[in-house]
Amino acid sequence: MDTIPLSRGDLRWVFPEVRDPEAVRGALSEADEHVRALTRHLGAREAGRGGGGLVFRRTEGIVAAGLFAATEAAGADFTAGLYFPRRCLWDLRWGPPWEVEAEIMVVCDEVPDCGGHTLAARADTFTTPPEAARGLAEATAWLLERGRAASPAFWRSRDDARCREAAP
Ligand SMILES: [Zn+2]
Repeated sequence: MDTIPLSRGDLRWVFPEVRDPEAVRGALSEADEHVRALTRHLGAREAGRGGGGLVFRRTEGIVAAGLFAATEAAGADFTAGLYFPRRCLWDLRWGPPWEVEAEIMVVCDEVPDCGGHTLAARADTFTTPPEAARGLAEATAWLLERGRAASPAFWRSRDDARCREAAP
């Protein structure tokens, strides 16, 4: 899988038909700026090569119907996405509806196959491109606010960061 920064991609990969491209572009740039601010704030490693902002994802030449952000710092992952959930690489459907998600997750120290623990998450569904783009701007603002309010070490020290799979 490779990634393409928002500025170098094509909105039609996510929204084949947009009646109000400026509204969509405006909200997506806002979301992009929230994610970049979070990456800078955390001094985080960029999971994509988009400079810490929103990226399109492409696998074997096929671009996913979505925009994604992922930032990692000290064992805490901050992720957000706006996408239509395709079933496989050859499924070329688009929304509506589009799903918007944001999540804070920590790595698991106790059980190797655990996959990590989700500590905060939100998800919404939207039927138009401007609403979905606005939804992503709000979800990334939520993520930035939480990233600024507490350090990755704090997230990892929370009680609900402990593993339920681990032996007592
Ligand atoms: Zn675990």
